[in-house]
Order: sequence, then structure tokens, then C-alpha cells
Amino acid sequence: MSSLGKGICAASLGRLLKARDISVTIQKFDPYINVDPGTMNPFQHGEVFVTEDGGETDLDLGHYERFIDENLSKYNNFTSGVIYKTVIDNERKGKYLGSTIQVIPHVTDEIKRSIKRTLQNKKVDIVITEIGGTVGDIESLPFLEAIRQFKKDVGMENVLYVHVTYVPYLKTTGELKTKPTQHSVKELRSIGIQPDIIVCRSEIKLSDDLKNKICLFCDIEKEANINAVDAKHLYEVPLMLRDEGFDSIVLSKLKMNNKLSNLKDWEKLVNTIRNLNGTVTIGIVGKYTTLKDAYLSIAEALKHGGYFFKKNIEIKWINSEILDKLYDNKDYLSEIDGILVPGGFGIRGINGKINVIKFARERKIPFFGICLGMQCAVIEFSRNVLGLKDANSSEFDHSTKNPVIDIMPEQETIKNKGGTMRLGRYPCKIKKGSLAYKAYKKEVIFERHRHRYELNNYYRELIEKAGLEATGIYQEKNLVEIVEISDHPWFVAVQFHPEFKSRPSKPHPLFRDFISAAIKYSSLNKRKK
Ligand code: GLN
Repeated sequence: MSSLGKGICAASLGRLLKARDISVTIQKFDPYINVDPGTMNPFQHGEVFVTEDGGETDLDLGHYERFIDENLSKYNNFTSGVIYKTVIDNERKGKYLGSTIQVIPHVTDEIKRSIKRTLQNKKVDIVITEIGGTVGDIESLPFLEAIRQFKKDVGMENVLYVHVTYVPYLKTTGELKTKPTQHSVKELRSIGIQPDIIVCRSEIKLSDDLKNKICLFCDIEKEANINAVDAKHLYEVPLMLRDEGFDSIVLSKLKMNNKLSNLKDWEKLVNTIRNLNGTVTIGIVGKYTTLKDAYLSIAEALKHGGYFFKKNIEIKWINSEILDKLYDNKDYLSEIDGILVPGGFGIRGINGKINVIKFARERKIPFFGICLGMQCAVIEFSRNVLGLKDANSSEFDHSTKNPVIDIMPEQETIKNKGGTMRLGRYPCKIKKGSLAYKAYKKEVIFERHRHRYELNNYYRELIEKAGLEATGIYQEKNLVEIVEISDHPWFVAVQFHPEFKSRPSKPHPLFRDFISAAIKYSSLNKRKK
């Protein structure tokens, strides 16, 4: 079922295999009909993870990238929507002339093609395919049928099935129950799939007796029963799964060379995480704060910045709507060492974001704005420093006299909402001497995008003269990518999404420097108290 940790399990396996010098890629199949998650409400689906090539993908791809430390592409995520769309488009083109198009074989064939499409001419030793949803759901059936057939297509010895199940703990009787595992395995078998390995997710450790019971009912060997107990830290999971012998059994079943595992870097990372010293508190001010998954990569990138300084990052989730009347709500911000305003869409909660940015700017609290966060910083500055009281984004007010943030010209004629934003990787030239340059230490950087609006160049000179400097430019189209205030300890806002490129052992330079500024602010703050 969802939220069980299949994504982390797939990502961890990828890490473990790479540690044995085996090349991998990971893909996700999502059984819903949307072509991609880009048009879904973040409350439904969590964050939309953007790939270098502009794919709007499932947040599990973020886990994959962070764990295997490789950039993936839009071809690493396929939904039912995209599969059916391809099949129907092909039907219209006449590719199957004469045939009746059916789930089997046309849809299942397309799914099998998608497993291979992930490779995009690259060669890897192992493709890990995660299928979202729950065994028994109607909508995931074509995917399960396709992977059943796939075994015959590529050779029985070249495919193995890992089933991630839930072993609930019943507090009242103090026992773990294996029934849900038995039943989902029965369900899988009824569609012709016998799992080779079962990963049992549980709150507490499974006893040998319980493991034996699962092996007996589900026809697997003891070594193929992997227990994934709740981990304290996300990044501990690969080590826990290694200790359970997960990668060894995968390789022995695939009859692949079992090279010695080298997880030194990962062990070092986990050791750092277990020995953090001191806490820095960052406030994330957004409108989806009740669902933390909506800002997953941002939260991870902040933690990565913390690991660099061996600090624990406490995130205070602040609903921007509460800050609409900031001056009645200042307590929300009293313990905070840095403020981050993330991306988003629509007008709800905008005033709260603008209020909090004013607060950060005036009180010299480290501030990091991302995408909509940068746009709000520009609106705030225009209203409160330039005195353009009605400054706004045309996203929120079509008829504003001062659209300091405006729709990109090439976006104006676009009618379709799905997949039409400025997406993916673009270069940005950084001004020497800026905070951004201090972070990146280079002049040309590449970052991922997902937006339709931008800083309106008509106001650029005015804004810069008043102290909000444009320090990063996409030169080809002369678009402002980074703004910052030099007369402030750390006030940086970016039009792109740096969070997608941060990795646990390689924090993104902007997140690292933001945390560094927050650490300084926190010690100053403590001294004042
Ligand atoms: N809504 C804004 C735009 O489309 C910001 C998007 C974002 O934050 N990802 O430009």
C-alpha cells in the first residue's frame, strides 16, 4: 500500500547494488490516469519532483536520485495516463491497423516497452521497477500482468519480484500479525506472480518464529524474508537492509557476481546523522504545511545543509494563511533562525508570505525564497521599499497597474495546463562577489525550473537601485534567476528549484550557506537572550 516505504526500499536497493559496483536505474509506475502528477493538488500527491529534462514526476524519484546519487529523467516515471495516451495516439496514427486494441496485449506491451524506454540507450546491469498502489487494486492490474509477462520475454532468470508488505503491530495484544502479508501474497499468486523476496515493514522486529511462518505460507526461503523495521533516520535504511542481507539475496537470485560491498561513504553519512550536535530551527512558510510531503525535497535539502555543519535541523511548519495578520502572530517566528518561503501556485496565503518576508528583511533574519518565494520577495520589496502599493504578480491580480511579476511572453498563448510550464534545466550566469557566487564558486550554474511567471524586466532597474540586486541571469532570454540584498546577512531568492539537486553527502551550496547563516543568527540570538 502507499506510504509503506516502497520508494525508500527501491532507492535503498539501488544504493546497495551501486556499492557493489553494479550499475542501476530505478523507475516508477504510477497506476493513476493523470499523464503526470503536475496537475494534481499537492495535498493529494505531495511534491512534484522535477527532473533535469523537465519531467514532472513522482516524489519517489527524489528519493531515488538522493540515494543512488544520479540524475534521472522523465522516462523514469510512467503513469497509466501516459501509457494509455501512447496506445491511443498510436491507434489514431494507424499503427495497429486491423486490430482491436485491448489491455492485453496492447497496454501491457506498452508497459513492457516503458521498462526498456527508461534506459534511453544507456546500459545498466539492473533496472529496479517500482509499481505504485496496492496489490488487488483494479488500476494496477495491467502493470502486474506486464511484469508477469516480462519474465518470459527477457528470460526467467533475469527477473525477480520483491513484494513489500505491512506487518502491523497490535498494541492491545502486543503482537505482530502476518495475515496481511499472507493475503497479499495470495492475491499476487492469483495473478500469476510468486514473490521471490518479501520485505516486511514493521514497527518492531519480527521474531524468527514469525519469519518462519511467513516463509512457510508464502513459499520463500528464510534469507528471502527481509525485515525493514521503522528506522529513526531515513538514510539508515540502506544499512539496515544490508544487514538483513537484501542485496546479497537479490544478487544470488539473479545469479550475478557478488562483488564486495563498499558503503564507507554512506556509513560516514549515517554516523554524522547519529551524532549531530545542536539544533537550528528553520521556518517553512507555505500553504501545504499540513502535508509535509508537499515540501519533501526542501525538507531533505535543509537537513543535508545541517549534516554539513553537524547540526540537527528542526523545521517549524507555518501555514502562510495564519501570517496574513503577522503582527498578531509574531510568536510563530520567535524561535526561528531562518525563514524559507517555498514554491506554490495561486493567491491563497500570499499576504502571509509577503508579511513574513518583510519581517525577515527588516529584522535581518536569514531568508531563502524559492520560486513563488522569490516572486513574493520581489512583490514585498516593490510594495514596501519602492512604495508601489499595488505591486503584484499577474498570477494573483490580472489588472494590477504594477505587475512586478508577470507571465512569460511565450506562456501567454498556452492554453493547456499539463506539462507546459518552463520546466527542467536551464543555465544561469552568476555575478561575481554575490552571495550566490560565494555559494556556488562558479559563474555558470544549471538549475531545474517549474514556473510560468518571472520578474518583469520593466521594473528591474528600479528594484536593483533600491537594493534588491539581480545576481543570477538566464542570459539567452534575459530572465532574472536570483535576487539578493547585500545589506543583509543572507537574503537570497531564486526562481529555480535548488532543492531537487541536493544530495545527503553533497548539500546544495545555497542550502548549505543558508544553514550557515542560520547558525550564525542562532548564536547571535542566543547571546541576545
Ligand atoms: N506560481 C508561480 C509561477 O507559476 C510559481 C511556481 C512555483 O513556485 N513553482 O510562476
